[in-house]
Amino acid sequence: MKKKQFKTESKKLLDMMINSIYTHKEIFLRELISNASDALDKLYFRSLTDTSVALSRSDYKINISTDKSARTLTISDNGCGMSQEELENNLGTIAKSGSFEFKRDFEGGEDIDVIGQFGVGFYSAFMVADKITVKTRVFGEANAHLWESEGADGYTVSECEKESFGTDIILYIKEDTDEEKYSEFLDEHRLFALVKKYSDYIRYPIKMATTKSRKKEDSEEYESYTEIETLNSMVPLWKRSQSEVTPEEYRAFYTEKFYDYEAPAKVITQKSEGTATFTALMFIPQHAPYNYYTKDFEKGLELYSSGVMIMERCSELLPDYFSFVKGLVDSADLSLNISREMLQHDRQLKIIAKAIEKKIKSELEKMMSDEREKYEKLFGSFGIQLKYGLYTDFGAHKDTLKDLLLFKTSKDEKYASLKEYCDRVAEGQSAIYYASGESVQKIKLLPQLDAIKSRGYEVLYLTDDVDEFALKMLGKYGELEFKSITAESLDIASDEEKKATDEVNKASGDILEFIKEAIGTVSAVKFTSSLTKHPVCLSTEGELSVEMEKVLKKMPGENPDMPKASVVLEINLNHPIREKLVNLYATDRKTLESYSKILYAEACLVSGINVENPTEFCELISDLMIK
Ligand code: ADP
Repeated sequence: MKKKQFKTESKKLLDMMINSIYTHKEIFLRELISNASDALDKLYFRSLTDTSVALSRSDYKINISTDKSARTLTISDNGCGMSQEELENNLGTIAKSGSFEFKRDFEGGEDIDVIGQFGVGFYSAFMVADKITVKTRVFGEANAHLWESEGADGYTVSECEKESFGTDIILYIKEDTDEEKYSEFLDEHRLFALVKKYSDYIRYPIKMATTKSRKKEDSEEYESYTEIETLNSMVPLWKRSQSEVTPEEYRAFYTEKFYDYEAPAKVITQKSEGTATFTALMFIPQHAPYNYYTKDFEKGLELYSSGVMIMERCSELLPDYFSFVKGLVDSADLSLNISREMLQHDRQLKIIAKAIEKKIKSELEKMMSDEREKYEKLFGSFGIQLKYGLYTDFGAHKDTLKDLLLFKTSKDEKYASLKEYCDRVAEGQSAIYYASGESVQKIKLLPQLDAIKSRGYEVLYLTDDVDEFALKMLGKYGELEFKSITAESLDIASDEEKKATDEVNKASGDILEFIKEAIGTVSAVKFTSSLTKHPVCLSTEGELSVEMEKVLKKMPGENPDMPKASVVLEINLNHPIREKLVNLYATDRKTLESYSKILYAEACLVSGINVENPTEFCELISDLMIK
């Protein structure tokens, strides 16, 4: 029979897996049991709508058996089984998604729990077995199939006999070595302990024939006998009271179920009785999953009806801005065979979703005040999502989200919430000031910053694309409006300063107009008193800032009606350049034209904007140098 090759990338991964430095080889059992449980779930789901599946709930089971002399460990289930095609697709390709990340982390030598993270669960069995045989038959089909592999050099698939539907996974356990005693995986006690440790909450009975001993009748001697025993307690974790569950149990439950290698940042439990009766167990991850910010990511909580899963990912339970939350909801109010369409309109579900949202919000707020460091780390991962949430739906969620936001500020470059900012505003300060740019480093170079800081005002540093849009949506916080420090209308000068500047501007109308014409692309040029050292800066008139324009430009697709920021060149009234410009206007307009362009390019550069025509700019500078 021709051996089929694993897909190239899969092969590499498999090699790495087999020779893994990974220490917890034992987790392979958990992986196989979880797969079996999933297969039972699938058949069970089918039974809800397909009357040909005439099994009662108690018929579903997982069986573990060993044969010490043949060195085999078999995990069987009477679940959905796999067709030949499914065998090839599911077991012929490893790590369908995210394998690059997997490889990168792995080659970086970091000791992380990569197994399970990218769906390489089944293959973890190659850590303990040198050959694996899968015998499987789909429910309702006559033919069974046999998949066999000895590891990275490929696999074969053929037809075989199998008495009933379901899947047997037969592991040929490796011989012991000096370092590894693989035989432990043939030992009943060890297997029992492993099931307890990792798979106790699996909802189907995991059975194993265990050897027991008893006293012989009328004798002092002992005899051994076998008994089929159910190893797991099957009580779902979320049905136990929180005080009974250890943090380790929550951690194990979370990492296993949601394929994370790190413990959750927060475990949230919620029990509610009244308008809606439900139990929720939720987790906030420490980091974003690798596909979180891609369109592949699907949000949602698992949905159970009295301990039985009815939907794997119920997206109606989570608003987009909390889509990073993982977990499940169990409610007796929901019927087992409710369809997806019906769910969307289910009143009960809406009430549950509202309650959950409120709970998540309050837990996040609590975290922000009580576990600040943890919250800041979390915000680093999911802050963007919260800010998008604030911006979308025309700001409908701004009240839910505004107090969860953090921004680095000019005070100490540490995070502050809007409330913290407002609680410490300087006297006489009438707005919340912000500055946007690619990075804090770049923002700190903005010429306008000095003047604001010198007045003792704190500035929020906006470094994410969405930031300024979100603040615009918010409009104000408490009584204070948000103001960009690069807005043309920024009004921090004293009345006297303003009056003096206005007069200069009025008197210099002609020369300012000349400079504007020379540049060509600005909507105005004016003198300002709010710069300290720098000769020039850019500001914008109206709602759209230069930073926002940049963000809009980055969006995919051509948009001929793309709005443009109205840019104003501001020239420092107190800088010697002013006198120079005035002189040139009187004596040498040609040179003034060049100077205007150079000053504009300078202003662009300090604002972090590309100079439109760098060649011209360089020529102008060189001309100046050789003059
Ligand atoms: P994952 O479980 O993360 O998807 P695995 O490599 O463990 O990744 O399994 C790959 C796929 O093989 C599963 O998604 C499932 O479709 C199929 N599979 C594995 N074990 C079984 C089983 N016992 N019964 C039916 N299908 C199975």
